[in-house]
Amino acid sequence: MPIKLAIVGRPNVGKSTLFNRLAGRKLAIVDDRPGVTRDRRFGMGRIGDIDLELIDTAGFEDVTDESLEARMRAQTERAIAEADVALFVIDAREGVTPLDEVFAEILRKHDKPVVLVANKAEGKAGEAGALEAFGLGLGEPVELSAEHGEGMGELYAALAALA
Ligand code: GDP
Ligand code: MG
Repeated sequence: MPIKLAIVGRPNVGKSTLFNRLAGRKLAIVDDRPGVTRDRRFGMGRIGDIDLELIDTAGFEDVTDESLEARMRAQTERAIAEADVALFVIDAREGVTPLDEVFAEILRKHDKPVVLVANKAEGKAGEAGALEAFGLGLGEPVELSAEHGEGMGELYAALAALA
């Protein structure tokens, strides 16, 4: 049985980069009609010996009358509800931002397991941000570089500990 993993967090932290790294193949949800919001992307993936069903969130091309934050909130809630595990991504170079705190609050309200990822942590660049991320109250952050594939062993260990 694959673990259903929802990749959540504010824009630009590297969620889709991580999705692409984990996804072996993408599942069809593509709706190419212009103006159709593609809030979520699905894929099957694998890390070590763990099969993953991935949900990537975001894609806010289409601005509606709802505020961006409200849309992110709704999308995140929906992804978490569907998932077994929420993979919450922050940008370790930027540290914890007020918007990250909003996501953390949503996640703390659910009883889904959360794996906190401090991304963009290649080299030593993420150390301060990862330390800050401890303060979110969501456990020990996994320092990762989705772009460079660093920290994948630690991510595996965090997921294996939940399985
Ligand atoms: P999303 O909006 O959360 O899905 O973020 P994206 O995956 O689209 O990535 C946003 C930007 O961060 C892109 O320019 C990526 O190349 C960059 N990025 C993603 N992962 C890493 C990483 O591990 N290290 C660095 N330095 N940049 C990254
Ligand atoms: Mg994205």
